Amino acid sequence: MPAASPASPSYLILGAGLAGLSLADALLRRGVRDPITVADARDRFDNDRTWCFWDVHPHPYRHLISHRWPAWTIEARGAVHRQTSAGAPYCHLPADRFYADVLERLAAAPNCDLRLGTTIGPATERDGEVAVATSAGELAATRVFDALATGGPTWPTVAPVPGPGVLCQRFLGQFVETDEPAFDPTCVRLMDFDVTPNGELHFMYLLPFSATSALVEDTTIGLVGTPDDDRRAEIGRYLRERHGLAAWRVVREEASAIPMLGVASARRQSSRLIPVGTAAGAVRPSSGYAFVRTQRQVAALADRVVAGRTGAPRIGRRRDAFLDRVFLEVLQEDPAGFSPNFLRLGRHLAGDRLARFMMDAANPLDHFLLIAALPKPPFLLGAARVGRRRLAS
Ligand SMILES: Cc1cc2nc3c(=O)[nH]c(=O)nc-3n(C[C@H](O)[C@H](O)[C@H](O)COP(=O)(O)OP(=O)(O)OC[C@H]3O[C@@H](n4cnc5c(N)ncnc54)[C@H](O)[C@@H]3O)c2cc1C
Repeated sequence: MPAASPASPSYLILGAGLAGLSLADALLRRGVRDPITVADARDRFDNDRTWCFWDVHPHPYRHLISHRWPAWTIEARGAVHRQTSAGAPYCHLPADRFYADVLERLAAAPNCDLRLGTTIGPATERDGEVAVATSAGELAATRVFDALATGGPTWPTVAPVPGPGVLCQRFLGQFVETDEPAFDPTCVRLMDFDVTPNGELHFMYLLPFSATSALVEDTTIGLVGTPDDDRRAEIGRYLRERHGLAAWRVVREEASAIPMLGVASARRQSSRLIPVGTAAGAVRPSSGYAFVRTQRQVAALADRVVAGRTGAPRIGRRRDAFLDRVFLEVLQEDPAGFSPNFLRLGRHLAGDRLARFMMDAANPLDHFLLIAALPKPPFLLGAARVGRRRLAS
């Protein structure tokens, strides 16, 4: 990368995942012609994420959505709560479509340089620029964006790292195919609590791509999780007993652990080294959803960059953040006993309201009805504990 003088802006994006690529794309879409370098340790882009969200907010990648479902259920044995949100369907956007779409524009932009196979090291701020040590030598720019999720050694903020003792949503999903129709392709099973109890909040998530193919995900929320082989066995039991299947093919698997905590406050502040995506708290703490929050954050950040403003935009609204903290406070007290609360939301909260709540777009009436659907004593106690901790900090 050519040495940048403080007078000539240049941008270095650390990480070519969802946030890093979206930011490079957003800068190009806004007509930025200064040098943009994107560096990542990966050497290829696979279909490594099943991004889902409710289609509540506009963003530049809606044309890449592959499936839309107008209905979903939250259920347990003996109780099926089905909701619809025709105005904001549940959507699936495959990662490989996103990568291919953005990489094509980056490759066509003469000012954009994508460096793969480049492991990022520490960053130093000096003389109006930030220099970053990498496995391919030093890179420097006047503005550096940390889009390394939880994998980076240069975090200006402290994104929680998944591990034992950290409240996480942990899952293993299998993409399965059957010979006979087995799934209702119009309806997502967001949460099915008809699973073997394992001491955490445990449910199955089923995304039906057609009557004969689906992603079936064994999911837990808690501090420890369960071994992958237990999850595979549970998916097998679920398909046999819940769907009456005798045989199916597993086409591929995906697994991950997503921390369900907000990003801690900044370890050090810099107007030139700005976190984005997971590193900036784009993952919604109570749900693990991040795709749309990342797009909204990236759009606001790119607007600031072209306007010559420094600093990172805030992600999400304070009242959603407070409700998330209360929700997680109660969940953490008794993860295994939390499922009735989701079933109550599934039963009482209309589909469009849940969609808006999950996508940070709930209006005051949505919030009121959400609170009204939940049992008062545990959530009031949880709110009091969160409030007390806030006052003490
Ligand atoms: C399997 C899976 C499914 C998910 N499903 C959903 C979903 O349905 N809906 C939703 O909203 N969210 C979902 N998420 C959460 C979130 O949207 C994704 O994790 C998203 O990819 C986060 O974007 P990001 O850019 O912050 O991180 P990433 O996309 O993970 O990008 C980080 C990049 O940094 C690179 N990197 C890290 N450390 C280094 C280093 N030291 N040197 C060089 N490069 C490095 C990595 O190679 C990677 O390319 C899912 C996450 C996973 C893992």
